[in-house]
Amino acid sequence: MNAYDLIARKRDGGRHSDEEIRWLIDGFVAGRVPDYQMSAWLMAAYLRSLDAGETLALTMAMTNSGTVIDLSGLPRPIVDKHSTGGVGDKTTLVLAPLVAARGLPVAKMSGRGLGHTGGTLDKLESIPGLRVDLTPDQFRDQVARIGVAVIAQSAEVVPADRLLYALRDVTATVESIPLIAASIMCKKLAAGADAIVLDVKTGSGAFMRDLDDALELARVMVSIGRGAGRGMAALVTDMDGPLGSAIGNALEVREALATLAGGGPPDLAELCVLLAGQMLRLGSRAASAEDGAQMARRALDDGSALQVFQSLVAAQGGPDGFTGEGLAEAPVRRDVVAPQGGWIAHLDALALGMLARDMGAGRAVKTDQINPAVGIDVRRKAGDEVRAGDILATLHLARADQAEQFAGRYRDAVTIGAEPPPPRPLVHAVL
Ligand code: URA
Repeated sequence: MNAYDLIARKRDGGRHSDEEIRWLIDGFVAGRVPDYQMSAWLMAAYLRSLDAGETLALTMAMTNSGTVIDLSGLPRPIVDKHSTGGVGDKTTLVLAPLVAARGLPVAKMSGRGLGHTGGTLDKLESIPGLRVDLTPDQFRDQVARIGVAVIAQSAEVVPADRLLYALRDVTATVESIPLIAASIMCKKLAAGADAIVLDVKTGSGAFMRDLDDALELARVMVSIGRGAGRGMAALVTDMDGPLGSAIGNALEVREALATLAGGGPPDLAELCVLLAGQMLRLGSRAASAEDGAQMARRALDDGSALQVFQSLVAAQGGPDGFTGEGLAEAPVRRDVVAPQGGWIAHLDALALGMLARDMGAGRAVKTDQINPAVGIDVRRKAGDEVRAGDILATLHLARADQAEQFAGRYRDAVTIGAEPPPPRPLVHAVL
């Protein structure tokens, strides 16, 4: 086997065997296949695509390129969840304790924010003292003891994905559905769960803006998961505007606490309940996703989900009985008001994500430091009627001299129309 022949075959629209794909990925990780040949193959795969068998083989080769987390000894099944990311997406903070409160263990590895999307780890780390760098033994012990742990993915998991993503990023080969699906699913398979619920976002703040692309990505990922022997479900959900009201790390933790206490924004609570329903079904705790959703609603209303969240915070080094104390607060607040009356026709999630990032809530490059205190409290969402002068949002800022510019950017992200816009569903499809 040699890389030249594999590149030429893919360039000409041919297909690879499982063994060939394994050879290519193993060789790349070991340094036998150089970057320039891997880049050429990625471009060929981008242009010619990969079929279902090739995509599964690529995912498995990437999964097995490093440590596969050993969750043995824990009660099975273990169900994981993955969101393709968005603006104000704090579902893991609510969902993990919610599902655990219903007796289904959650052993979750999460990521950090980059670009306009936030990351669960950054949100959790805005809780004073909370650590996400548990060892594999500490991780397993905590799940066995309190039913839930959320930690950072270790460097030994899926090295092939890190190397490939770095190449894709600089060779214009990121936007390929099979390559994206393999990249996401190898991380999920390596995390060791028996079943996975996917939350694939679509709309202006999503990685897949277009609904058809989001549906296709969801289908390909479900097919990979089933091919790998995992239970799978996917929801394609809306990310045309931010999820909930809070954007920014400490603000999002406060909103998650309110949701866990049975309140919070209706879209966030509803999405968490629907995802929990699917997880409880796949984890055999509920006969159907609808039954699971009802069980989840009760866990929000009776305080049990909040208690599990507090146990998680305390177990990972945060305060006992955490109800939000010690979360950072920004020194400056500035309201943004509606320049005219009408209906909010569109709140551009991408523009708001970039705004929050530039305010200091996110990262433009991986090494940027996050300010946990800053962010946006969105007060009016798409479909709301407003009068001129009504407060659209409150900005939580690091410095007063930023207020004018950032308020202008917020106003630019809002479209106010003369008619109510057609409603967008929270869930576009369930697979
Ligand atoms: N997220 C990932 O993890 N991988 C991709 O390729 C794209 C988005």
